[in-house]
Amino acid sequence: MDLAFTHEEDAFRAEARTWLHAHVPSTPLPSLETEEGFRAHRAWETELAADRWSVVDWPSAYGGRDAGLIRWLIFEEEYYTAGAPGRVSQNGISLLAPTLFDHGTERQRARVLPPMASGEVIWAQAWSEPEAGSDLASLKARAVRTDGGWLLTGQKTWSSRAAFADRAFGLFRTEPDTPKPHQGLTYLMFDLRAPGVTVRPIGRLDAKPAFAELFLDEVFVPDEDVIGEPGQGWRIAMSTAGNERGLKLRSPGRFLASADRLLTLWQAQGEPESTKRRVADALIGARAYQLFTYAAASRFLDGQEIGPESSLNKVFWSEYDIALHETALDLLAEEGEFADTDWSERYVFALAGPIYAGTNEIQRDIIAERLLGLPKGRR
Ligand SMILES: Cc1cc2nc3c(=O)[nH]c(=O)nc-3n(C[C@H](O)[C@H](O)[C@H](O)COP(=O)(O)OP(=O)(O)OC[C@H]3O[C@@H](n4cnc5c(N)ncnc54)[C@H](O)[C@@H]3O)c2cc1C
Repeated sequence: MDLAFTHEEDAFRAEARTWLHAHVPSTPLPSLETEEGFRAHRAWETELAADRWSVVDWPSAYGGRDAGLIRWLIFEEEYYTAGAPGRVSQNGISLLAPTLFDHGTERQRARVLPPMASGEVIWAQAWSEPEAGSDLASLKARAVRTDGGWLLTGQKTWSSRAAFADRAFGLFRTEPDTPKPHQGLTYLMFDLRAPGVTVRPIGRLDAKPAFAELFLDEVFVPDEDVIGEPGQGWRIAMSTAGNERGLKLRSPGRFLASADRLLTLWQAQGEPESTKRRVADALIGARAYQLFTYAAASRFLDGQEIGPESSLNKVFWSEYDIALHETALDLLAEEGEFADTDWSERYVFALAGPIYAGTNEIQRDIIAERLLGLPKGRR
């Protein structure tokens, strides 16, 4: 791998930096986990999209810049360094879009991707169910054939931002009598405001209302909203999961920027000796993750699959994020514990990192079995 950037990549970085400098809101937007914040973040997506910065690696036909994976990583570094707002469109951009690129039809891509890029339609992920989280294949929500489409019935839960999102994508059981649970599932998209959908917020530690569970009662979905072949949903979903855990969900830019903020905080607190080592670990960890990710991206661009190595990424960033925020809260002392600061909100969110996108216990099993070749554990 060549560790130097090309002139074109440097020019791209400079262009992104200039744009962000001119456009990033000078006061932070309200939390995107609230209705007001969701609206403000949607407007920000529109602003990004107007100058084609919302999905830089996508083809230009759908609103991107054809910039590719390396420039996307560069853009993310600049984005977080500039302190730009969190991405309310993330589920759509990093999960559904790659699925449509790999398994959707051209008509679906042309219909779904441009309004996703512009923030006009914001997507929620409706995979988990009360009895189907880690063991996703045991899901029970079903889709039954009807004229011109399917009727969805069942319950989905833990759906990020679903209280305010427009549409959702998920897996449904279409063939109830298959010999194995991951057979007979179908991947489809549906409208969160369609008749038969009830969206109920789930209480969070910080009382923000965007997280939700979904109750579906014969919700109609037209055939054009099925992704891939009916019954093939598991295979399609696994490619989505690779994207979620692998390169696209958490880019190094986010952690490089957080580590720099931590350093600034530590300096502002008089550089206490007691936390020096942990701040240094945060700086080194962010840089190591950056190099690891560029190496994975290079292998991907050389035609290799990301594969089970994405589980290493996921365990690393989720545990790193908690350690970094714990250090920040220790530095802030009482202010960190009790005040509703940016750091405390991010800390609470970091706590969920080892759970969402597949728990770290499951990721460790994947690492043990598929990367290290250890025998299967007892389930
Ligand atoms: C903040 C947050 C956001 C989320 N957003 C979404 C979303 O947008 N859409 C969505 O569909 N889902 C979402 N989820 C759900 C998330 O994917 C699940 O919570 C996760 O997959 C775990 O499933 P579960 O909660 O059912 O726990 P369980 O699967 O019941 O697991 C409970 C515990 O048992 C362990 N365990 C289970 N099976 C095994 C095993 N075989 N070996 C070893 N340990 C095991 C787990 O690791 C965990 O520690 C979100 C969750 C959180 C916390």
